[in-house]
Amino acid sequence: MTTSKVCPACGVTFEVITDNASSSQQEVCFNCFKRLSLNYVCQKCGVSFSRYVGIPGTQGYEGRAARISRLCKVCYKAQLKEYKCAECGENFTSIKYRPDYCPKCFKHLNSTGEEIRCEVCSTSFLFTEAERRFFYDKNLDPPKKCKDCRG
Ligand SMILES: [Zn+2]
Ligand SMILES: [Zn+2]
Ligand SMILES: [Zn+2]
Ligand SMILES: [Zn+2]
Repeated sequence: MTTSKVCPACGVTFEVITDNASSSQQEVCFNCFKRLSLNYVCQKCGVSFSRYVGIPGTQGYEGRAARISRLCKVCYKAQLKEYKCAECGENFTSIKYRPDYCPKCFKHLNSTGEEIRCEVCSTSFLFTEAERRFFYDKNLDPPKKCKDCRG
């Protein structure tokens, strides 16, 4: 399946494949994708490579350009280690230092939980499942105040 999209950088209409997981990469047309890709030199092996970071001037661009991995794909992959998720038991690869959960479970644990009403300002906030486990591990009571009121 393909769908037409208007390139936000140059206004040209182009086709995107929608049933592809990497389609989120297809934010701009192919020309702009190439034009806006920045050149990097791999810190490990010295190979130069380019990576698309977005349209200059848009939200988050500066941060992305600064944060982007300075390793080429090969070196990046070499850094990936295999871990077993403590939640679902599946193996996954990550570049992080000893992650407990696979990205899917991590996301889930950080987006579900219990709504708590702040005793100071009465705003409800989410006490996530990940936080709950952390508090439980440390033998702490669930927070009674929202992040703002906790200071
Ligand atoms: Zn374009
Ligand atoms: Zn490299
Ligand atoms: Zn998992
Ligand atoms: Zn509050």
